[in-house]
Amino acid sequence: MGKQLYDIGDQPPVGEVPEKMHAWLIRADRFGKPTEAFQKEVVNTPSIADDEVLVYVMAAGINYNNVWAAMGIPVNVIAARNKAGEPEDFHIGGSDASGIVYKVGKDVTNVKVGDEVVMHCGTWDRNCSWVKKGGDPMYSPSFKIWGYETNFGSFAQFTKVQGQQCMPKPKHMNWEESAAYTLVAATAWRMLHGWGASSIKKGDVALIWGGAGGLGSMAIQIVKAAGATSVAMVSGEDKFDYCMKLGAKGCINRNEFDHWGMLPHWKDGAGYAKWLKGVRGFGAKIWEVLGEKRAPNLVFEHPGETTIPTSIFVCETGGMVVVCAGTTGYNATVDLRYLWMRQKRLQGSHFANSVQSNEMNQLALRGQLDPCLSRAFTYEDLPVAHQLMGDNKHPHGNMAVLIGAKEFGLGASGKPAVTIVHPTLPKGDVHTTPHPYPMSEPLPSIESAEALTITDDGSKVRDLMHAGIISCTPDDTVGTVAKIMVDKEIHAVVVMDKQGSAVGVVSQTDMVLARQGRTPDQARAMLASEIMTPGCATCDADMLLSDAVSLMTGRRMHRLVVTEKDKPVGVISMTDVVRKIIG
Ligand code: NAP
Repeated sequence: MGKQLYDIGDQPPVGEVPEKMHAWLIRADRFGKPTEAFQKEVVNTPSIADDEVLVYVMAAGINYNNVWAAMGIPVNVIAARNKAGEPEDFHIGGSDASGIVYKVGKDVTNVKVGDEVVMHCGTWDRNCSWVKKGGDPMYSPSFKIWGYETNFGSFAQFTKVQGQQCMPKPKHMNWEESAAYTLVAATAWRMLHGWGASSIKKGDVALIWGGAGGLGSMAIQIVKAAGATSVAMVSGEDKFDYCMKLGAKGCINRNEFDHWGMLPHWKDGAGYAKWLKGVRGFGAKIWEVLGEKRAPNLVFEHPGETTIPTSIFVCETGGMVVVCAGTTGYNATVDLRYLWMRQKRLQGSHFANSVQSNEMNQLALRGQLDPCLSRAFTYEDLPVAHQLMGDNKHPHGNMAVLIGAKEFGLGASGKPAVTIVHPTLPKGDVHTTPHPYPMSEPLPSIESAEALTITDDGSKVRDLMHAGIISCTPDDTVGTVAKIMVDKEIHAVVVMDKQGSAVGVVSQTDMVLARQGRTPDQARAMLASEIMTPGCATCDADMLLSDAVSLMTGRRMHRLVVTEKDKPVGVISMTDVVRKIIG
């Protein structure tokens, strides 16, 4: 008869499962700073289903998802699970781990008690009809990330996983190294190898964003193993050596360029020309690094909003930009001319299935994938590790924490088939950009659509609008329209046709865009019909003000023409809304 509970670091005999276990728990009543949200507790060791495995955790990887789970934003992961019928009122996070198999369900065939394993974080219901038909489990509605969307992750003495998640642990890596790479490396593998003819192959060129980061450091190595060339993007020259030791042909310091961000409006001749100059300079820098005039046929994307326009532009004709995140924002702007004329592909990608995770792990087993462990912590410091990540004070690369392993550096035996240099990051290296949201933020779908409660004071458009319409005709010159604007001190003029219908709006922005790249006389001589924003975004006078605001922000407009019985009666603008907010 074994003990009911073992101390941390006191490993139970292999195969003996104690009734209780130590774990770092998050509870809803302490959501907030990771150093406060994570607390040590003792809970029952979870039971397993027929397709599941109980693993004694030696070390766990640290990822952003549990920084957000600790804060309870943007989702309360505990409430979400309780709603789905799971009873536990706590969350044990952890989506990366290395450990030893202690118990297997009767249907598990790929591992046995005593096996040393690492685990990928993709879970799905084996009875899902899509999966049973042979569909990619990554598209299954039952897909969940273990240790974020599921409970009993790796921040405990024992973790509950599906048999298919278990993969052999690389013998040459110690416990903390082997706990650090799976989530990022499997994600990078699918991004690079999961997209048919667009996938990476010998002789290709890939541009890798965040080359020193978790995903990027894995991507450089996967590209190298495929016999392709990579150019790594970093935020400083101090990280060049690191990326080149991993296998990049060369690096670019993104801080040498300043054309980042959403695309300028395509009507903005001067703004667009400046952007083109920036992005062309960046393309030329890629040629310089490559030593030949070649464009990357694969762009490995995750910064998102600030870099997508550049990624699409520099991508080779017929190439692919593959994206798994929007670290800098989610509204990516694309100049569709480059996408369709040069037949490029913008491909979304999320984690990886079991086959892809195992293909990636073959690289690690052979010694061709350095886990890029930049910092390891003791069990006691698990909350601190998350706090550093939340505060953006952690190094690039990947981090891990000891759980069952008594000391750093244990668990390695044997030599890999291939020996590679272990690169080190510059001393004192820390991240410079904070993360926005966890990778698995649930997205609304038709199925999950629920009536949302919106707090609104009930103000209507008619309460704030300016009555009366100041208009021009389509044939008025821009000079005439400008005079109306200045004389009447308004920001936009409605363009009315002969029948009295509003056919467009000339805004101050349209006016300024008309002047971009033209002389004042050329701009003044243009007609309202040439520069107006065609169509007229309207709202009814009885529309809720909040709906009108959504309409304006959604269309990136500053004003709407207000109608009553389809006849224009006034204008509502963002300025009016701001005045109301200020009170
Ligand atoms: P990470 O280790 O923090 O690396 C992110 C990298 O992005 C950093 O190395 C940083 O490098 C670079 N970066 C930051 N701001 C940038 C900007 N404005 N422009 C260009 N590069 C910028 O994170 P990670 O583990 O690689 O993950 C990256 C993103 O992918 C995160 O949002 C993560 O949540 C997501 N992710 C998604 C999945 C999935 O399955 N969908 C899986 C893993 C991760 P420099 O500062 O040196 O440029």
